[in-house]
Amino acid sequence: MAQQKKSSTLGYIVVITLVLTALYVFFNPSPQSPEKVTLDTFLSDINSEIVETIQVSSNKIDYTTTGGANFYTIKESGQTLSEVLATVDPAKTDGIAMEVIDTTSNNIWMELAVSLIPFILIIGFLLFMMKSAASSNNQALSFGKSQARIADPEKKKTTFKDVAGAREAKEELIEIVDFLKNPSKYTSMGAKIPKGVILIGQPGTGKTLMARAVAGEANVPFFNISGSEFVEMFVGVGASRVRDLFKKAKRNAPCIVFIDEIDAVGRHRGAGMGGGHDEREQTLNQILTEMDGFEQDTNVIVMAATNRPDVLDPALLRPGRFDRRVVIDTPDIEDRTEILKIHTRNKPLAKNTELERIARQTPGFSGADLENLANEAAILAAKNNKKSVTQHDLEISIEKVVMGPERKSRVLSAKEKEITAYHETGHAIVGHLLPECDPIHKISIISRGMALGVTWFLPEEDKHLYSKTKFENELASLLGGYATEKMMFGEVSTGPSNDLERATKIAHKMVTKYGMSDLGPTIFGDNNDEIFLGKDFKHMRTYSEEIASKIDAMVRSIVEKALKQATEILKKHEKQLHEIAKTLIKEETLDRKEFIKLFDTTSTLNLKLP
Ligand code: ADP
Ligand code: MG
Ligand code: ZN
Repeated sequence: MAQQKKSSTLGYIVVITLVLTALYVFFNPSPQSPEKVTLDTFLSDINSEIVETIQVSSNKIDYTTTGGANFYTIKESGQTLSEVLATVDPAKTDGIAMEVIDTTSNNIWMELAVSLIPFILIIGFLLFMMKSAASSNNQALSFGKSQARIADPEKKKTTFKDVAGAREAKEELIEIVDFLKNPSKYTSMGAKIPKGVILIGQPGTGKTLMARAVAGEANVPFFNISGSEFVEMFVGVGASRVRDLFKKAKRNAPCIVFIDEIDAVGRHRGAGMGGGHDEREQTLNQILTEMDGFEQDTNVIVMAATNRPDVLDPALLRPGRFDRRVVIDTPDIEDRTEILKIHTRNKPLAKNTELERIARQTPGFSGADLENLANEAAILAAKNNKKSVTQHDLEISIEKVVMGPERKSRVLSAKEKEITAYHETGHAIVGHLLPECDPIHKISIISRGMALGVTWFLPEEDKHLYSKTKFENELASLLGGYATEKMMFGEVSTGPSNDLERATKIAHKMVTKYGMSDLGPTIFGDNNDEIFLGKDFKHMRTYSEEIASKIDAMVRSIVEKALKQATEILKKHEKQLHEIAKTLIKEETLDRKEFIKLFDTTSTLNLKLP
């Protein structure tokens, strides 16, 4: 509305102005254009004293008379006004206002301007070119600038409260926080402030989170860069990025520089396959130089994270560099409960949820896995239009995270279903009867991910040590599926392939890594992943051909012994095998209680375990 009003007012003003102008022009005819007269007339007008003003520009002389009329006349070029008036009595010109307009100089300026225009244009163009060249140059140069991101101070700070568990790690890091807050407390005692802290832990255990929390607790800036960002396609970029990063950091001290995934640059120097390690070496050298170059009172603490401390260059870890090592463990059951609490804080949980039970069912989950689990549960609840996230949502999400989503679309034929049911029952029965196997949690023949069925064992508590018997029992249970197929159908399908692979790996480790075979307590190193990490790929094998064949034989005998054990158990419990497999075909899923009930009611034999 207001807009419209304004524009209509404007319209009126324009119209009125136009009308007024027209009226003015109409009633106020412009002064008569000057009439041309001869030079003589001009002089005689002066002599008769009727000239009031004279204006000379170039060869033209304009003059007005006392009657208000305008005239003009032309003089010879080069003649000045006083020369023109030479013949007139000076007394006659006394009262005349004379003005000479200097047109010649005007013209010179005009001419100069005109002739300069092309130059001006050219210079402008050149300047423009230079400027744009410079800016693209800048872009090329900024490759060497670190891409470190500084955490936004406006954003909510991460603190130790956001990191659940990891008590020991926190305790060590509290010290670092104190260094950053009160450096003088330590320097006055002659203590050196640590320069580097390396956080070691499996992926997803919260290393990055922890580093952020340290910065948040100390309330200092946090420069965050990933090791892989140092290694780009241009040689020398890494080193210059490091220089730049440290320069920035020193300007912002006290602060934390966080180098994530430091193993990308910090591997053993002088090793590694493939190209590009020179660049890495330079980058690493630059980091070391920068850290050595810190003044005693430079309050910059470099934190780094890795999940492969074993491949790091020893020079990184020596005193005065990353000499503080903080291990962040995979969370235990209590920590898992805490982490779940943190990640369900902003989700409406049903009243009867027991996060501790979820924690119990998720051994080996990292913080990131648990976060994912909580998120999946929330998605599931939302999908079903529920008001809150229930225990059931959480439990289903565990299965989804562990085994991939159920694939209801994959339809098994009756025969496939039967084979799968027997196979899984085989695993379950052997696992159930062997003392060192974890309790059964669930058996299912709903296909998930790549697997057609699954038998899920769940330990009562987190385990840190494994005995030889435990490995043997697990091998037997792993081979339970294979044994059943062979027993029931006379031949095996491709189903147990994954079981066999895992069994072979376990047996191989027992022999070469844990000293759990007749070959004695020697480690036979041919850890394959070292090849990729380039630590010592020249000495891939530290043993002779003879030992190699002994290892093979040993692995085979361990696996075969397990298969025999599994077959014996299954033969003795054939009745249960049939009963449970049939129920499984009907029900598709059995939980722990249902399985045990079925097993016990069909049990006739009282087995004496081998
Ligand atoms: P890392 O750097 O060790 O691979 P991150 O720090 O990136 O792991 O962790 C990934 C996510 O997992 C974090 O953003 C956080 O949400 C969650 N997380 C991991 N550990 C914890 C923990 N102890 N407490 C709370 N959340 C955690
Ligand atoms: Mg990380
Ligand atoms: Zn199997």
